Amino acid sequence: MSECNCNTCKMSRNWRKAKELKDIQSLDDIFNELFSMYEHAQLDHEVLQAVMDGVWPNSVQRLEHALTKAKLYEAKEVDENDAD
Ligand SMILES: [Zn+2]
Repeated sequence: MSECNCNTCKMSRNWRKAKELKDIQSLDDIFNELFSMYEHAQLDHEVLQAVMDGVWPNSVQRLEHALTKAKLYEAKEVDENDAD
């Protein structure tokens, strides 16, 4: 059975290996990488929340674009369900 090669699984394997070896430098590197990923995810979340709350520049354009896409998606879903 082959291992999953996604970034999360690779990082998890590296973390377990570093823990087993008590490799403090690698653990610190992994922690810093995880923290950086967390910071970026948190920032993305805050921006998207601000867009949803309508308090981010271009919120109206972004939300209108998203609404147009959502309507097209929904119409396609309805069409596909009708075809059954
Ligand atoms: Zn994976």
